[in-house]
Amino acid sequence: MRRLVMVGVAIAVLSAGCGGQSPAPVPTSATGGPVTGGVVSLTFDDGLARQEQMAQELTKRGLIGTFYVHSTRTKAAGYLDQPKLERMSEAGHEIGGHTRTHARLPELHPDEQRREVCADRSALKAMGFAPKSFAYPFHAVSAAAESVVRECGYSSGRGRAGAAAERIEPRDPYNLNTPLAVGAGTTPAQIQKYVLAAEQHKTWAILVFHDYCDDCGPLGVEPAVFTGFLDWLKEHKIAVRTVGDVIGGDLRPVPKIKAPSIVLNASLENYFGKEGVPDCWQLDGRSKTATFGRVAGARTGRWAGRIQVGDGDPGRLRLAIKQDDGDCAPRTGALSVWYTSTVPVRFTFSRRTGDGVWTRWADGPVFPATTSWRQATWTPPRAQAAGISFGLVLAAPGQATFDDFALR
Ligand SMILES: [Zn+2]
Repeated sequence: MRRLVMVGVAIAVLSAGCGGQSPAPVPTSATGGPVTGGVVSLTFDDGLARQEQMAQELTKRGLIGTFYVHSTRTKAAGYLDQPKLERMSEAGHEIGGHTRTHARLPELHPDEQRREVCADRSALKAMGFAPKSFAYPFHAVSAAAESVVRECGYSSGRGRAGAAAERIEPRDPYNLNTPLAVGAGTTPAQIQKYVLAAEQHKTWAILVFHDYCDDCGPLGVEPAVFTGFLDWLKEHKIAVRTVGDVIGGDLRPVPKIKAPSIVLNASLENYFGKEGVPDCWQLDGRSKTATFGRVAGARTGRWAGRIQVGDGDPGRLRLAIKQDDGDCAPRTGALSVWYTSTVPVRFTFSRRTGDGVWTRWADGPVFPATTSWRQATWTPPRAQAAGISFGLVLAAPGQATFDDFALR
């Protein structure tokens, strides 16, 4: 998922003026005085569990960092859980966002981008954090992704790697340049070089760290290198601030986003719900003999979804778009899905009325069993719906595999 970023020498190209932006507040140094030179931000990606030790090393030295995490991974093994993140936040570290699923945003439909960015930020806020800063997974930025990050209420987005040092008053706060991802091969001198350059040119060095260990892959920094660098940094007395502090400004609200115009997670690729239910989908009526699981052999992407219904089961296990108030449930549309099945399948459909109530499930037309991928499409009766949900159910015990749902 993560990628080592090879970086050349960062060259700061500075120009006067900043296009009418109001000046950023003057950052203060780690020891409290005003910044007279450059500034350094220590940033940490992906919410990896071992970053707790890195945060502790910072705290020991009176330093603070910015940790870009995924709201969906705080219960997953190998990641920082909520109590740990709370302790880090209490120690002064900043908790920022990094999408729900480490998504490469420019490749996604804007509605899918909003789900990744806004819903993640909303979940972090619900946990009690104050996420102001965002980092694009894979450093992948586009104009559309930038506007989504702004729309979702973030104050900045850490973006492009290796292009140039960042200005303390960034030209584009939604594409902050970072000079360096620190990895297993990075030497203390290399890390120091970026700090010294920021000091010399009065710029902002945003350093990126991932894992922390002696031998855990290309993105793991060795503890001795990391703590040695922190000791040097502390002695060096350059200002060390979180990204949110350098950017300044108040915490902005998360807007209520419009119901999507597409089926989100339509190819059933992302599984961050409980019990292996795909994100933005719900499963009703599971039993001992009626099960859902993801399977390889997808029509597109990596996964398809499969419902299996045993003998004697009425076969009402239903995978359908999550019946929510518009985070996942789209407003309207004609429905389509690709499927293979050993038994006939039928559409199942529900809609949300203006008062937010979901109707009982209604049956749609039946489609025949098929061993090769076949597309089923259906336009439900015209309904004044605030939101819709739909899926497929098996008409009898058997097995059906689904992929690539869509609204048309
Ligand atoms: Zn990442």
